[in-house]
Amino acid sequence: MPTIPVYVPSLTGNEVDYVMDAVRSGWISSLGQYVDRFEQAIKDVTGARHAIAVSNGSVAIHLALHCVDVGPGDEVIVPTFTYIASVNAITLAGARPVFVDVRMEDWLIDPAAVEDAITPRTKAILPVDLYSAVVSPAVFDIAKAHGIAVVEDSAEVFGTTIGGTHVGHAADVATFSFFGNKTVTTGEGGAVISNDDALAARLRKVKGQGQSLDKRYWHDEVGFNYRMTNICAAIGLAQIERVDQILARKQAIAALYRQELADSGMQFQQVPGDVKSSEWLVSALVPPEADRDEVMRQMAENGVDTRPVFYCAHHMPMYATRQTLPVAEEISRRGISLPSFPDLTDDQVLRVCEVLKAALLSARR
Ligand SMILES: *Cc1c(COP(=O)(O)O)cnc(C)c1O
Repeated sequence: MPTIPVYVPSLTGNEVDYVMDAVRSGWISSLGQYVDRFEQAIKDVTGARHAIAVSNGSVAIHLALHCVDVGPGDEVIVPTFTYIASVNAITLAGARPVFVDVRMEDWLIDPAAVEDAITPRTKAILPVDLYSAVVSPAVFDIAKAHGIAVVEDSAEVFGTTIGGTHVGHAADVATFSFFGNKTVTTGEGGAVISNDDALAARLRKVKGQGQSLDKRYWHDEVGFNYRMTNICAAIGLAQIERVDQILARKQAIAALYRQELADSGMQFQQVPGDVKSSEWLVSALVPPEADRDEVMRQMAENGVDTRPVFYCAHHMPMYATRQTLPVAEEISRRGISLPSFPDLTDDQVLRVCEVLKAALLSARR
């Protein structure tokens, strides 16, 4: 049997037609109708007042930090358990990342740790929504009480709603990634959303080299080229046309995993009842007595591809601090991501569960 991969994008809608149309139109850079239509589609899904497409999810975070005026001398509070892009964006903005621990219940930034990490230099909080879960509302309350900006790295949770409202509305700016393995993809791509008119205008301007929005070649502030191409937007528009179908399938896959693994000792993130998750990558912790890397090795041997969850940023050489952030360190050691792509069949999910359970039995320390 062929190996079951962790992710394959589902490109079975209008993706090819729209890309061909974009190429034939000659509009292959960042002007063109698909960029406008994709941004409108992002607004329709998220309900945000403004959506601005950019070239990837990493620059989306940098653009957002830059536009809430994060710069040299500033501190930005970030969970140590995240994808490295969240942290690198802070460095690129010239600021210093301040790492805090996460909660065992949802693997996300711990509001109590955020409160403790605030100093007079704290310019922003950069909470990150990972896998199935979304940042605790308490984090936004703390930011508000201290008058600190929030840039929410929502790269993994496009399509997730909280009480019927799309994720990202509690932040000053929320960012998304449309990388090939994300829920909606444009190949490489990203977006920022905001409900603040002035901030959104600045985001749009800075993504285009700081060019005035109504005067060509007039640049009145420092900017970057973070524009998305019309070709990428063409793929993205076709993806969003199918987003309900993609989300429904991913939710069904996650529910089947949770049901099949209920008695396996695997520990999932806890997600509050009002959150309807996009279920990006189904991830869970192996039991404490199991050797995660050995479980992954045995699963690979039996035709199932998996991923470890992220390593802690405060352990990376360029960010190494002497901190001990025990919850994040434990999650990082025990976490595993399972195949979760939209075209995965129920039979394949069942096979993954069978292989995982067998590996758990033999990979006891
Ligand atoms: C995917 C991802 C990003 C970055 O996205 P790219 O589009 O690959 O640059 C940032 N943060 C998190 C948490 C991600 O999962």
